[in-house]
Amino acid sequence: MSQMDDDENMSKPFRPLLRAGTRYSRDAADRPILMFEDVYKSYRPGVPVLRGTNLIIERGEFVFITGPSGSGKSTLLRLLYRADMVDQGRILFLGRDIARLRDDSVPFLRRNIGVVFQDFKLVTSWSVFENVAITLEVLGLPSRLIRSRVGEALERVGLTGRGGDPAGVLSGGEQQRVAVARAIVGEPALVLADEPTGNLDPQLALDILGLFEEINDAGTTVLFATHDRSLLDIRARRLIVLDEGKAMDVPTGIALHDDDEDDDDELPSGLPL
Ligand code: ADP
Ligand code: MG
Repeated sequence: MSQMDDDENMSKPFRPLLRAGTRYSRDAADRPILMFEDVYKSYRPGVPVLRGTNLIIERGEFVFITGPSGSGKSTLLRLLYRADMVDQGRILFLGRDIARLRDDSVPFLRRNIGVVFQDFKLVTSWSVFENVAITLEVLGLPSRLIRSRVGEALERVGLTGRGGDPAGVLSGGEQQRVAVARAIVGEPALVLADEPTGNLDPQLALDILGLFEEINDAGTTVLFATHDRSLLDIRARRLIVLDEGKAMDVPTGIALHDDDEDDDDELPSGLPL
């Protein structure tokens, strides 16, 4: 894209995507949903977390982001929803440079990106319904529409009938389902999950992973950051490893555990897992 095109785009408000994969602007249709171009980020001088990260994520992908604690998984996700800004390089969301969005376009970015955290981040004194509805209330949607959309979202996460319960009385697995409903109720194009299974036991972790798979099957792009190896090898899928500040694609279909006789498909040695 030329500088002129870029400036012209930036002078227009960012257009919201109302439904994943459908009503997006025409010029965004043939662009990757996300591109990292030589992204640098550090919190302390001389200690870069991301150093020249390049990455392309296509619309509709399900991508695991992995790497050991401190490798920059949360940083990478925070840059996407503009909780942090890059030091150098660019992150393009549907062709738009996230750092250059005007202030009045940021709500549209946030609307198009749903985020799920390890610690759920629910207001435990609010009802399940209120925790999910807040996403739409800040957008000023009419209450009838909010009620029906929240009902749909709760159904998608298997919590039909629980809307009136205080969030704090739900189990951990149920609370994470509420957080997933909150992330998807606005029908974002992209869902980010930062260690969403980190506080859950293994069976619940699998259930939550399954939920994200269903969300992805319905057309939403999912970036799932985890260092839980047991989730990574359930099936072949795209796996990006953060290693020394760079994002490295690891071929799919690879066995992460050395539990078969055939050693051909081991991870390359030196991977920081
Ligand atoms: P991960 O999610 O893979 O565990 P993070 O992105 O949280 O990694 O952190 C990457 C590095 O950046 C770590 O060394 C961490 O201490 C540092 N870091 C993250 N956030 C901040 C911050 N707000 N201020 C200072 N250092 C930070
Ligand atoms: Mg993290």
